[in-house]
Amino acid sequence: MSATQNLLNQIPGNPSKGLASADRLWRNLRDNDRPVPSVVHQNSQPLGETDWDVVICGGTLGILLGAALARQNWRVAIVERGMLKGREQEWNISRDELQTFVEMGLLTETELERAIATEYNPGRISFRGGSDIWVRDVLNIGVDPVYLLETLKQRFLNAGGTLLENTAFEEAIVHPDGVRVNVGDSKTPDSGLTTRLLIDAMGHFSPVSRQVRGQQKPDAVCLVVGTCAEGYPKNETGDLFVSFTPILHQCQYFWEAFPAKDGRTTYLFTYLDAHRDRFSLEFFFNEYVRLLPEYQQIDLEALNFKRALFGFFPSYRKSPLQSPWNRILPVGDSSGSQSPLSFGGFGAMVRHLKRLSEGVGEALNADCLDRSALSLLQPYQPNLSVTWMFQQTMSVGVNETVTDPDSIDRLLASVFDAMQDAGDEVLRPFLKDVVQFGSLSQALFRTSISAPLTVTNIVPKIGIFPLLGWMRHYLNLGAYSALSPIGEAIADWSKTASPQQRYYLHQWAQAWQYGSGRDYDR
Ligand SMILES: Cc1cc2nc3c(=O)[nH]c(=O)nc-3n(C[C@H](O)[C@H](O)[C@H](O)COP(=O)(O)OP(=O)(O)OC[C@H]3O[C@@H](n4cnc5c(N)ncnc54)[C@H](O)[C@@H]3O)c2cc1C
Repeated sequence: MSATQNLLNQIPGNPSKGLASADRLWRNLRDNDRPVPSVVHQNSQPLGETDWDVVICGGTLGILLGAALARQNWRVAIVERGMLKGREQEWNISRDELQTFVEMGLLTETELERAIATEYNPGRISFRGGSDIWVRDVLNIGVDPVYLLETLKQRFLNAGGTLLENTAFEEAIVHPDGVRVNVGDSKTPDSGLTTRLLIDAMGHFSPVSRQVRGQQKPDAVCLVVGTCAEGYPKNETGDLFVSFTPILHQCQYFWEAFPAKDGRTTYLFTYLDAHRDRFSLEFFFNEYVRLLPEYQQIDLEALNFKRALFGFFPSYRKSPLQSPWNRILPVGDSSGSQSPLSFGGFGAMVRHLKRLSEGVGEALNADCLDRSALSLLQPYQPNLSVTWMFQQTMSVGVNETVTDPDSIDRLLASVFDAMQDAGDEVLRPFLKDVVQFGSLSQALFRTSISAPLTVTNIVPKIGIFPLLGWMRHYLNLGAYSALSPIGEAIADWSKTASPQQRYYLHQWAQAWQYGSGRDYDR
């Protein structure tokens, strides 16, 4: 029996089957052999009166937006394949980001405090051969998804929202004036839901986003495995980003660890491509089990495992995903709007929640629901696009010759040392997945002075053309930073504009603000 199977057998409900089915999906992705779904169709006949303003398919992050829209008095229905329920494992985020829920009236201060299951300080960043960096108040809050989603569900229902649980999205037919959403077995002509706008919140493997992406393979993938366990003698601090091994199996392994409400969570993750020869999740779990004792300085026998955690996050350079159809908007993981560096899709949604809910409200008010108007709600974000180069520098090609197995560690140690020297205003936003022009320029400049050879080595690794492509995003980041204050002035001035003009002006202003990471300074 493998070390992984041995460990999984100890966990209540034995998650072996879950791991095997996640591995099948990962295999499908590498082999690119899953048929592309055909779930969205178009019909040129008008639909007439619709029952809903918004139908949201997928309830996990969908309920965040659903509750906000129901509170704006829109007629909202959520269609959820299973029961709308948060997972046991906490979502990590920083405290200041959570305040959005209170500002938007979605949680009271008391409810927010109850939703916070854990809080720790400080968090460590450490690479082999480098020195440890400690930071406070970054991704150090564990939110209890069960309580959060239940509270938002009640807020949604109290605001007049309708929740259809155990009801699966099956197909959408886009008409000029609305969308018919067929669910469950409701394919008969007069059933299904009719809506002005369909929001797809069905996650990375949403049939709608898979139809849009077609046979395209993801440009990068983040694999993650881990556990939550009791028995660690020390459990007060966390690790945000740690590596202690050289490149192994054409991958750099990274670790995260933090206190959870019922033990300590430890994750092993890596960045790679979806080449068919990449290893399985089960192999990666074996690596986790092999290295965990060294990482946490503990015997596995001392641990009482509560949960196994695993997943993979495909990401595409062409993100966020733009719908090719009118009246359909992807949000959450299905939109690919989080950075390829993080598996913080909940955090990304919270960061954009106010912008998205106000933007959707304005789009409905102004009837700006065609594909080009809606694309402004998931706009190009240079601060997201620049992160691609970091992802590339931390991954290794399947057939790449590794001449220096410590190169990634050395590069990261130099970059993080430079960021630490530049101060909190450079390091903290980056760790929270917010990239800003000033901070990035400082980090690049300082690293090229302190470690010129390490930086020069990046050029052949990335390739000259991808590097030029990256420069374009970097310059756009600078341009967006310059435009962001102008956007704020335009947004003020737009009060006298028509609803349509206001929608466009607001969305451009928001794209500049969020695309430059200036929302972090709010
Ligand atoms: C191990 C691990 C650790 C993580 N840790 C963090 C963290 O610390 N912080 C953080 O911010 N994020 C974290 N994440 C990421 C976070 O969990 C996801 O970003 C988030 O769950 C995405 O939500 P989603 O609603 O977009 O997609 P999903 O979570 O995939 O949810 C999709 C929803 O759609 C429903 N659905 C699917 N198909 C249909 C259908 N046909 N009809 C109707 N409903 C459907 C599903 O039932 C589900 O409710 C972690 C993820 C993993 C795997």
